[in-house]
Amino acid sequence: MSISRKVLYNPNLKAMEHKIPFNKPFLTGKEEHNIGLAMKSGHLSGNGSFTQKCQNYFESQYRFRKCLLTSSCTDALEIAAILLDIQAGDEVIVPSYTFVSTANPFLLRGAKIVFADSRADHPGIDELSIEALITPKTKAIVVVHYAGVACDMDTIMELANRYGLWVVEDAAQAIDAYYKGRPLGGIGHLGAFSFHETKNIICGEGGLLVINDERFIKRAEIIWEKGTNRSAFFRGEVDKYGWVDIGSSFLPSELIAAFLYAQLENLSFIQKRRTEIWERYYENLKGFAMEQNIMLPYVPEYATNNSHMFYLVLKNVQERTTLIQQLKEKNIHAVFHYLSLHKSSFYKGKHDQRELPNSDSYTDCLLRLPLFFELTEQDQNRVVETLKNSLSIVKN
Ligand SMILES: *Cc1c(COP(=O)(O)O)cnc(C)c1O
Repeated sequence: MSISRKVLYNPNLKAMEHKIPFNKPFLTGKEEHNIGLAMKSGHLSGNGSFTQKCQNYFESQYRFRKCLLTSSCTDALEIAAILLDIQAGDEVIVPSYTFVSTANPFLLRGAKIVFADSRADHPGIDELSIEALITPKTKAIVVVHYAGVACDMDTIMELANRYGLWVVEDAAQAIDAYYKGRPLGGIGHLGAFSFHETKNIICGEGGLLVINDERFIKRAEIIWEKGTNRSAFFRGEVDKYGWVDIGSSFLPSELIAAFLYAQLENLSFIQKRRTEIWERYYENLKGFAMEQNIMLPYVPEYATNNSHMFYLVLKNVQERTTLIQQLKEKNIHAVFHYLSLHKSSFYKGKHDQRELPNSDSYTDCLLRLPLFFELTEQDQNRVVETLKNSLSIVKN
């Protein structure tokens, strides 16, 4: 995987069959300039002016109550687990079809993870399956907006209110995506975004914690600053700073924030291009998918699509494996995604035996197609045509 990710994408190569990677991180051109400014500013560590700019961007653009830039989405979720005071014996409900970072931060605090299934029409958590998983020990529900498509947040928030539970949104893939007009990451008590190089907006490794519940703001800043009240000190609110709580080194350096800010300034430009690509896939595949009984991404009426990902759900794992192979022979890199966490070698012995058939079905059948800013129309057509031809071969 790591080798093929490094292959250069060069659509100008004469050879017809140049490699089409799954992803290519996009640079706006402004990153180096911003990093240069950060270098010259003399402030290289975290929480400087570029960090403030990034946080302000999210707070003003999406009206998030309070944002803290972190070194990763995983870090943001770790702060969330500390803020919610997750302890040994607590239970946290998490979808099984997700990345390990949705679960790990809560396990690190001693929680038991209770895995939930996905919807049949979408890999997001099946909101109707959650209530049966709630026990007196349940403390939080973590939702994942898979492919940047919202979970049914009204149903989930109503359930959480009724049972007195916290809701954390793993919005790693969900920048600039909405649920009934409300930006994702801003609906649960806490939200977390990722700027890993595979996401829409990137800085190599990076993340953001969104604090929507006023009560968590003060403590979040302290945990973020290694358990000290340094942020309050620099605002002149206290006359000395010291160790006041647990915490860790969660903030990224200004060099990272400077890179990220260049991307944020180009967010609508990046989103526009990704949307064109996503829609072209959909238009070119929908008739074929219907004929062949292949599922394409479904965006419920309450949700928007931020074009994070284009995927197909095939009939079974054999069909998918053969298809990946066929595409690979034509130098096109299409990839599967998560392996159900309840069946992972780490967690299967700890899982309570329940079957999660939809999660398993996405594990076996979901295939993601190349989608990145610089993918040319010609190359996208090649992906579509190769896919159609390969699938006819697979089926016959
Ligand atoms: C990418 C991703 C993460 C991890 O983000 P990092 O910034 O790499 O920590 C977590 N959850 C989901 C759903 C993701 O897609």
